[in-house]
Amino acid sequence: MEFENVKPPEWGEIIEMKDGKLHIPEKPIVLYIEGDGIGPDIFRGMKRVIDAAVEKAYRGERKIAWTKIYAGEEAKEKFGEWLPDETVKAIEHYLFAIKGPLTTPVGGGIRSLNVTLRQRLDLYACVRPVRWFKGVPAPVKHPEKLNVVIFRENTEDVYAGIEWEPGHPSIKKLYSILEEDGLMGKIRFPETAGIGIKPISKEGTYRIVSAAIKYAKRHGRKSVTLVHKGNIMKYTEGYFKKWGYEVALKEFRDWVITEDELWDQVKGEDGVTPIKKEGAFAHLRGGRPPGDPGDRIVIKDRIADAMFQQLLLRPDEYDVIATPNLNGDYLSDACAAQVGGLGMAPGANINYETGHALFEATHGTAPKYRNMDKANPGSLILSGAMMLDYLRWMEAKKIMVDALERSISEKKVTYDLARQIDGATQLKTSEFATRIIENMEE
Ligand code: NAP
Repeated sequence: MEFENVKPPEWGEIIEMKDGKLHIPEKPIVLYIEGDGIGPDIFRGMKRVIDAAVEKAYRGERKIAWTKIYAGEEAKEKFGEWLPDETVKAIEHYLFAIKGPLTTPVGGGIRSLNVTLRQRLDLYACVRPVRWFKGVPAPVKHPEKLNVVIFRENTEDVYAGIEWEPGHPSIKKLYSILEEDGLMGKIRFPETAGIGIKPISKEGTYRIVSAAIKYAKRHGRKSVTLVHKGNIMKYTEGYFKKWGYEVALKEFRDWVITEDELWDQVKGEDGVTPIKKEGAFAHLRGGRPPGDPGDRIVIKDRIADAMFQQLLLRPDEYDVIATPNLNGDYLSDACAAQVGGLGMAPGANINYETGHALFEATHGTAPKYRNMDKANPGSLILSGAMMLDYLRWMEAKKIMVDALERSISEKKVTYDLARQIDGATQLKTSEFATRIIENMEE
């Protein structure tokens, strides 16, 4: 496929999805959007760190063929469009992209570029790992106990974008259906109500829960928790729970055990041996006793409001979390705060069937720090680590994450962390990247 403004290096090779499997060449083409505001600064830092980790791990045998694409302010200036069609088509073609934060254009009916990209590429899984890094100041006593990966459904729920402002003529049409169904009395102030629609489907639930279970299996994680508000929204969130268990038991029976099944074992019915009973109990508490059922992934569910408490009170009982869009949005920020804030939280938007993946910093463009070489590149670096994980370049990922952690624990950090850590040395974005690279050598 020919593109006018997308020019991969000649030695770059294309990542392909064949027969449901990703084929990763040694020199994969990875597209990048530098982003607005602090984007270019943190992107440069991230690229140097990734290149150094890949070089250290594979000594030139593997290398990323970085290829620039345009979105945001730079695209608007160059091409008169915030999100050129060629950019979306290039990601469709080359599969992998990583992006810095983008300004959300204000007014003129322009939607968020991030939401547009997620919807056009059907990137249904928003994956957000949240863990604590030694040395990062956190508001809780034991931030190290939280280590979760949130699989937030990205395409459905109240985020589907189906809503009408108060007084819109379509609301009247909807009311006639509600009247027919005897539900009109449920709208307290019909004349002034805005209305939104919350679709949650079986296919949508199946694919996000499957992705979470496969991730848990591949990474040796202990449980997948379905977080929902099914006690109130029975036919949307309630069905998310029902379908979640259904797909777990239908498609992954040999890998999983449900919390109810474990309780049955604890109760000791059907001649369960004492050892198995003990193992089942340990398993329920987030442990992993050897043997069956210790190596099974526990499937459990929690009501969303209770989950916020649980993550504060018993964080080590949770591992992978699968949840509809809105719950996932709230939960991922709350978890990030628990381990020291959004500045270090990475994210990826993935469609596991087509292979499309867009890795991104989760914070915004922090425009006041633009071109100051000041912002923390941690979020984008960790998003890069997620990309290395998805490329299955685990050695490079480990080198990079360990070096980042070492840099933080020696208190050589950017301003945002330095202002919270006693005795810290404040580094510029570029110096922080350099320190991480130096720490790879050590
Ligand atoms: P923001 O850009 O995330 O910045 C808010 C504050 O967070 C900054 O002033 C800074 O705090 C801190 N911060 C964010 N990133 C940081 C980093 N890498 N290193 C250190 N500190 C960091 O939020 P905003 O000001 O609300 O949004 C600005 C623009 O970004 C808007 O156009 C918004 O739509 C867009 N946005 C884009 C994305 C995305 O592309 N994914 C996400 C969110 C927002 P201090 O001032 O305390 O130092």
